[in-house]
Amino acid sequence: MAHLEQVGELELIRQLAAVLSSGPGVITGIGDDCAVVSYNAQDNTDLVFTSDAVIEGTHFKEGCEPCRIGHKAVGRVLSDLAAMGAVPRWAHINLVAPPEAELAYIREIYTGAQKLAGRHGLVICGGDTASSAPLALHVFAAGTVEHGGAVTRSGAAAGQGIYVTGTLGFSQQTGKHLDFLPRVAEGRWLRDYAGAMLDVSDGLAVDLARLIQASDCGALLEADLIPVSEFAGAQAAPSEKLSHALYDGEDFELLFTVRQEKASGFMDAWQSAFNTPCRRIGTTTAQSGLLEWINPDNQRAPLPQGGWLHYS
Ligand SMILES: [Mg+2]
Repeated sequence: MAHLEQVGELELIRQLAAVLSSGPGVITGIGDDCAVVSYNAQDNTDLVFTSDAVIEGTHFKEGCEPCRIGHKAVGRVLSDLAAMGAVPRWAHINLVAPPEAELAYIREIYTGAQKLAGRHGLVICGGDTASSAPLALHVFAAGTVEHGGAVTRSGAAAGQGIYVTGTLGFSQQTGKHLDFLPRVAEGRWLRDYAGAMLDVSDGLAVDLARLIQASDCGALLEADLIPVSEFAGAQAAPSEKLSHALYDGEDFELLFTVRQEKASGFMDAWQSAFNTPCRRIGTTTAQSGLLEWINPDNQRAPLPQGGWLHYS
């Protein structure tokens, strides 16, 4: 019998998807940042669903400031909605807490969740509570997008610029994994420009591999262009910093391609719309599934794979 740690997350998802059957109305099913269902075509609206778990010991440490736990739990689903270009609408939170948890601590978690949700128009309108350990929040969220307008992982084609927002790496060390600002407005705006998009949750290398697989194309990254996070504590060599930017998880930045017909005016339009940093880091190529880079020695080579995968 294979164990989850042997097969890994991607194979687990593939096998679970094979057990489940799709149904009417599903536009984008298992395997993207969110599922998209046709809700009211006459009203020109699709519904976009996502869910995420934030668990003590895995996603935050015991004793973490409670408002940051709530912020992260809601931020993760907002980031997934952003990656589809959706408007956040409604959420439920299932709380799992041990009986000895302090009421004030739990209330603070919800205060943090509400603060971020409110900033983006996400209404937390229900959920469930269960008594168990460790402490965990399971957040389910729905957004809306114009019918057929969700940006998926599968819309890239060869010859498109690859871009990423913000900076990458050292998310655990800097606390960004708790305090990140989901790129909701940016994701929504990018509907007009993006070929494919996802949010960087498991590391640039792994997430870009997912994007090109879904899009049936390849990618050529340029090491010199990858925006590495400033981390004062890092005494690391430049190559080590770069590997943090490639393989650390939980940056929750948007990784996307820009459609060729939109390429020329893209950076100017971005800079007029946002202060958020955004940088071109490579180009999609024709060879399906091949992820390469111009490495720090200025040689074209396959990008070594790493990154955060659950179970393995
Ligand atoms: Mg995602």
